Amino acid sequence: MDFDQWRAAWFATMRAKGHTPILDSDGDIDQFVVSGGYHNGPGCSACGWECCMHCTDMERIPDCTQVRADQAARDKAEREKLTDIIGAFVP
Ligand SMILES: [Zn+2]
Ligand SMILES: [Zn+2]
Repeated sequence: MDFDQWRAAWFATMRAKGHTPILDSDGDIDQFVVSGGYHNGPGCSACGWECCMHCTDMERIPDCTQVRADQAARDKAEREKLTDIIGAFVP
């Protein structure tokens, strides 16, 4: 895997974990949200998570906590809607 492939895989994993990457002015994922010395990496605009992508294995990227909260609220709303619909058919 060359560097570009590794970086693309890293960002894909970040998105798969639910994060919303902060973008730079060109609309690309900003790789310098974290920046210091040899360290740099992206951040999430939803949960505020950020890290150095060189120090963090992509397998160790945490789930986005913000998406979880939103999703839980959506799931609950969906369930309640379904309960209403089912309730209308139950005598
Ligand atoms: Zn996040
Ligand atoms: Zn680092």
